[in-house]
Amino acid sequence: MEFSGLKAQYNCMSEEMKQAVCQVLEDGQYILGPQVKRLEERLCEYTGRKYCLGVSSGTDALLLALLSEGIGPGDCVFTTAFSFFATAEVIALAGAQPVFVDINPLTYNIDPYCLSHAIKRVDREGLLRPRAVIAVDIFGLPADYEKIEEICAAAGLVLIEDAAQSFGASIGSRKCCSFGSYAATSFFPSKPLGCYGDGGAVFCDDATLYERLCSLRVHGQGQHKYHNLRVGLNARLDEMQAAILNIKLDHFAHELTLRRQVAEAYSKRLSGYFKLPAVPTGLTCAFAQYTIAGRDTPQRDYLKAGLEQAGIPCHVYYPVPLHMQPAFQGLTYHAMPNALEASGRVLSLPMHPYLTIEEQDAVCTQLLRLLDEEKRPE
Ligand SMILES: *Cc1c(COP(=O)(O)O)cnc(C)c1O
Repeated sequence: MEFSGLKAQYNCMSEEMKQAVCQVLEDGQYILGPQVKRLEERLCEYTGRKYCLGVSSGTDALLLALLSEGIGPGDCVFTTAFSFFATAEVIALAGAQPVFVDINPLTYNIDPYCLSHAIKRVDREGLLRPRAVIAVDIFGLPADYEKIEEICAAAGLVLIEDAAQSFGASIGSRKCCSFGSYAATSFFPSKPLGCYGDGGAVFCDDATLYERLCSLRVHGQGQHKYHNLRVGLNARLDEMQAAILNIKLDHFAHELTLRRQVAEAYSKRLSGYFKLPAVPTGLTCAFAQYTIAGRDTPQRDYLKAGLEQAGIPCHVYYPVPLHMQPAFQGLTYHAMPNALEASGRVLSLPMHPYLTIEEQDAVCTQLLRLLDEEKRPE
């Protein structure tokens, strides 16, 4: 059984893929060409954003947003304590300090109430200049942007959406990648929309920001290649990956429907036995992951071992909250009980559009069997 279904997906699209890749080879343009341009236009249309830049990864997409705002030493950026490391890493790479914020235990996303408190605390301490918030749509579920946008506006902070896991999700009629001044997504192979290497995109609605991002994407270039206005990155998306993404985008809406069907089937079978993914009213989820939670860490570890023994792949995203990562020791932080508890309880199950009914059934049957065996003495 596959965890993220890349082989099954390739089998469905292999002819189209081979043709698209060969076409790029024959066309002879390999970096930022017509495929990237077409992809950017299609991604704008899909998300409702004015501007999109194909870039080298989700990490670079986030970093470009911070560099575009000139965020650096002396600044701080607020972000969730429960995410992939890259979310916080880019803040430190830019020279600023991450200030971690606890999560809502139901959605696993940044808690707006805790965010307000953290902003007030930093203001009171007066040591760091608050600049931005990076909100993450963890596991594919949009963060609470209604409240977060309000908080950012009131505090004069730039909002950046980390939509690495949420391409395709929405709040009402607004798609993920459309929140904040900037949004970043990732095309890492196992993300909902993935390429066959590294890739990502940054989105914005403002022409000035867009121009700055374009410059930063290519070494801070100005009018021409050998005229540099600022210090930037090499953060370009290549044509091969864009051609692959253009094919995958044709299939994306259908795949998203299938993902949601898998999630629904899991929820139906597992309801009442585990803490399940919550999708608040008005939101849709991209189900990058389907993440359940055990009662406590021993039970989670028991379930994980039991699934693996039965040949069912599963993963813990994420076992260590960001504020407890060794790389961030030395930063003072406040207790983040919800993030810590989530790390101890979560378990992500196989989730992809090509997961068969039989496979879904096998996962659920094994989980319920493990619960049953746990109850029996010895
Ligand atoms: C995957 C991911 C990233 C980084 O994306 P890459 O393309 O791997 O650089 C950033 N944030 C989150 C939440 C992610 O899941």
